[in-house]
Amino acid sequence: MMHVQYSTNEFEQKYTYDGEDLGAVYTPERTVFRVWAPLADSVTVNLYTSGNAGEDDLIDRLVMKPDVNGTWTAEKADDLNGVYYTYLVSRNGETQEACDPYARTTGVNGERAMVIDLALTNPKGWDKDCDPHGEERITDAVIYELHIRDISSDRSAGIRNVGKFLGLVETGTVTPSGIPTGLDHMKELGITHVHLLPVADYGSVDEKRLEEAQFNWGYDPVNYNVPEGSYSTDPYHGEVRVREMKQMVKTLHDNGISVVLDVVYNHVYDADEFCFNKIVPGYFSRIDAEGNYSAGSGCENDNATERSMVRKYIVDSVAYWADEYHIDGFRFDLVGLIDIETVRAVMEKVSRKHPNVIFYGEGWTMGTGLTKEGVLLATQNNSAELPGFAFFSDTMRDGLRGHVFYYSQRGYISGGKGLANVIEQCFLGKAPDWCKTPSQSVNYASCHDNYTLMDRITLAAPEASWEEWVRMNNLAAVIYMTAEGIPFLQAGEEMLRRKLDADGNIVENSFKSPDFINGLKWDCLNEKTYQDVYAYYRGLIAFRKAHRQLRLTTPEEVERYVTPVEGLPKDVVAMRIAGDEGDKKTDGIFAIFNPNRTAVEINLPEGVWSVCINAERAGTDPIEMITGEKVKVEPISATVLVKLRKKG
Ligand code: CA
Repeated sequence: MMHVQYSTNEFEQKYTYDGEDLGAVYTPERTVFRVWAPLADSVTVNLYTSGNAGEDDLIDRLVMKPDVNGTWTAEKADDLNGVYYTYLVSRNGETQEACDPYARTTGVNGERAMVIDLALTNPKGWDKDCDPHGEERITDAVIYELHIRDISSDRSAGIRNVGKFLGLVETGTVTPSGIPTGLDHMKELGITHVHLLPVADYGSVDEKRLEEAQFNWGYDPVNYNVPEGSYSTDPYHGEVRVREMKQMVKTLHDNGISVVLDVVYNHVYDADEFCFNKIVPGYFSRIDAEGNYSAGSGCENDNATERSMVRKYIVDSVAYWADEYHIDGFRFDLVGLIDIETVRAVMEKVSRKHPNVIFYGEGWTMGTGLTKEGVLLATQNNSAELPGFAFFSDTMRDGLRGHVFYYSQRGYISGGKGLANVIEQCFLGKAPDWCKTPSQSVNYASCHDNYTLMDRITLAAPEASWEEWVRMNNLAAVIYMTAEGIPFLQAGEEMLRRKLDADGNIVENSFKSPDFINGLKWDCLNEKTYQDVYAYYRGLIAFRKAHRQLRLTTPEEVERYVTPVEGLPKDVVAMRIAGDEGDKKTDGIFAIFNPNRTAVEINLPEGVWSVCINAERAGTDPIEMITGEKVKVEPISATVLVKLRKKG
């Protein structure tokens, strides 16, 4: 079968194109098209007035000439900004019409590409725009995972541009009772990075029916280099989605927030319909011995990232988002299905121009039908092969809240036993099976997948009281927010987010659930208990930012600064963290985590200690001073103390 030959050395030597000019290269004088179609008999470019597939509005047809390495080119001397186009690719008497895999934007639903003058889409001050946290290290980040719709879809958000990129640029938005929402909330919380669920064009929301209620997380890519149309105010005009997404990035940057994109290079929405596969049949996808698409992701197809032109495509795509949209970080969906060489090539190319862009992903091990021998995948287990790329720590997540697939299993916070050692290791920025360094460990208790933290707590500890659930939540937050590594939270965790259907049942997988399940319920902040949790998270983030020794980058530094305390009551974990030489006022931190339903007393090293975090409050200001030898830690809570340096 044809797809077998794609991965041979002969094919790759003959047909690997390494130029930077694939797609429609625009200047006001002319546009030059180049497409990679190594097996085609002929290729033409169709130029159209509109972006609507099927519309009878052909302007011109350009016959492409075969060029090097399987590429075809054509050019038209004219200003084509705003002209839509497709490729017509013929082979063995069959013709396919396809969007351009290198499309910079498209018409509605991503079916026709559009030639675009990108310079005209730049917001004011774009040439001076930069990553507000560009000088920092990955362990300095506090990452907030958000779906574009969720921040604005609930009426209590008070945001005008519901479900749009522009919903993230509105300032001064409040609930009916005057509580800040949206961008102002994110700023107040103190996060450094907002991580957006997929914003590249995806297929599961019909951009022609936006007046109807639709929702999807967006893990079903159609055009990898084009913003999703449903997040723009006008999906029919290709320049609008580009302009509005850039405006969003610029405004977030102006407000001190860096932007991470969740990118889905492991599979596509529909492998047969994916434009790259229409142009080069089956090239983009792994196919098993029976000729079926390999589907390790459970999403019907896996991208054949190990093939040279898929690799180049992914590298070019990530670099494009970094260059053109000033994106500051990339979270790779199911990166364990992508080969290490491709991930390295991405990091190498992006880092050349943007050395501080951060990279992390889901390194789960999954079966997939690789098309080459000896390919290493970017799984957690191979983390040592990918320095500079971090992985979600399911070790910490499951240690804190219980096993991801056994929802009634208790975690450390909810009364699980024998987990102190796992929590201790994770606090040190390690995971026994796969991680040796804090700069590769993304520490978290909840993300969009699986139950929210509060939902998971109620399932694990159904007998507990509401007050105990809140304490469990906050104990989880203290642990991952003070641990060595990269803290990460799902938007709304800081106000006890839940996902409940109309009957009050908990929804585990809300990937296409309606807004009333997924949207952030801002008016919960009217209630004191939610306000208190929100204040607690703000305090934790401020505390983390104030102490450099919680943000170490190497195991050697962790070894030097952080010492687990021995001889503690059962299930209690405590850490002595040495002082930072640069800090004249304080001399180290003592952190104690008590998951027990009884209070414990812990011996303190000598000195004057100020409590900055306890069961009720968290922050940088002392709550109380302790000069004695012992500190009492309330049930299901943490106490974190800072030692004051002796004057003189
Ligand atoms: Ca779309």
